[in-house]
Amino acid sequence: MSEQQSKRADKQQSQQADIIVVGAGMVGLTTALALAETGLDIHILEARDIDPQRIGVRLQAMQAQGYDPRVSALTCASQQILSNVGAWPQMAEARISPYTDMDVWDGEGTGHIHFCSRELHEPALGHIVENRVTVAALLQQLPQHDNLTLHCGVRVQELSPPRHDEQRDLALSDGRQFRARLVIAADGAQSRTRQLAGIAMLEWDYGHHAIVTTVTTELPHQATAWQCFTDDGPLALLPLDDPHKVSIVWSTSPGHAGSLQALDDDAFCQALADASQHKLGNILAADPRHCFPLRQRHAKDYVRAGFATLGDAAHTIHPLAGQGVNLGLLDAAALAQALSTAVAEGENWHSLRVLKRFERSRQLNNVQMSAAMEGFRRLFGTQQPALVLARNLGMSVMNQLGPVKNHIVQQAMGLSGDLPALARRG
Ligand SMILES: Cc1cc2nc3c(=O)[nH]c(=O)nc-3n(C[C@H](O)[C@H](O)[C@H](O)COP(=O)(O)OP(=O)(O)OC[C@H]3O[C@@H](n4cnc5c(N)ncnc54)[C@H](O)[C@@H]3O)c2cc1C
Repeated sequence: MSEQQSKRADKQQSQQADIIVVGAGMVGLTTALALAETGLDIHILEARDIDPQRIGVRLQAMQAQGYDPRVSALTCASQQILSNVGAWPQMAEARISPYTDMDVWDGEGTGHIHFCSRELHEPALGHIVENRVTVAALLQQLPQHDNLTLHCGVRVQELSPPRHDEQRDLALSDGRQFRARLVIAADGAQSRTRQLAGIAMLEWDYGHHAIVTTVTTELPHQATAWQCFTDDGPLALLPLDDPHKVSIVWSTSPGHAGSLQALDDDAFCQALADASQHKLGNILAADPRHCFPLRQRHAKDYVRAGFATLGDAAHTIHPLAGQGVNLGLLDAAALAQALSTAVAEGENWHSLRVLKRFERSRQLNNVQMSAAMEGFRRLFGTQQPALVLARNLGMSVMNQLGPVKNHIVQQAMGLSGDLPALARRG
């Protein structure tokens, strides 16, 4: 949006808001709810046509039809954040699947590691939750806060640079104009809002496509998340509430993904049973498959004057360790903490100084996780015999080292480390 257009917005009817959150996905909604107690006037813009009044009924109807092919393995820290914004009880009522164990092995058959919640004195390592269940539960919390307003079926088309008072003007696809002290981009991996703010991304292709679907297994999954590192990439079988249903994320080369997509259901089930080495017996049936190209992305900056970005809009990583949305929810909790503290202390809450506190608290952590995922992908992508042997032996040795293993899994569960207040247990 040019300066002239911004001046025109001055003259036209422009709606004033304290905060605009762009994107009502898991991260955008959590951010808005986590900020509700500040009393700031917050507007959420969502491109999809959602009817929040009917979301509960629609969810019930969808659940009766089957499982959402998009699921997330949510950590204990994410559970805590979602509980603190009021959504977890509704998610639990709708459909969540705790997993108590995780079994990871190498396709060669020489490396193996097993994690168990009992060893950590925890009821579960985490929960597998359909993304639509999380979004629906979050949407259902909005009416409890008078200062949160959801606008559906609208896209941000233009975003002005910061004005002299650091506010930003937004032009929406339905012709409306907003002026806000802070714009938060939570509009996903292809974030148009982040692009409009001129924030560059570091990105590269993982050389993997992920096939996701729900399948029926011959043997029960035993509340265990199964992950096999095949020659082509990691294959995860994530337990759902039915003991014979698992959600799969099969990351593999684009060529192999293409040939798997071309198979009929019977041949696909056979290929999946072979790739998972029949850990859950035969695969008896499969829902329609969806394919996602996987790219690593990281925003060079998370904040600018009057602007912040978080969740997939700021970073995407390989799903092999199921951390993507967990990082996004930690971003939401950290941003809410920085802004709420500033509001409570009478500081200029939308200043760049306050926003930088959020950036500092999250960027390094997210970069480290991205680097770890890249390291894993390369380590498990290698065909060099010496490296394969060292890797597989290392995995099996680690399996014997209880304290080291438990430390790693506690980090992955979000039970240790420097967590924002909303993610900490009481
Ligand atoms: C195959 C696969 C498996 C995964 N498994 C896991 C897992 O096990 N655990 C985990 O933690 N993560 C996982 N992830 C990552 C996780 O799915 C994402 O991190 C998460 O969905 C990001 O949420 P978000 O709210 O940031 O973005 P999104 O879910 O993309 O939401 C963005 C929202 O913004 C809206 N929007 C887009 N553009 C506009 C616009 N211009 N104006 C207004 N609204 C707009 C969209 O409609 C959407 O509602 C996985 C990812 C993949 C691809």
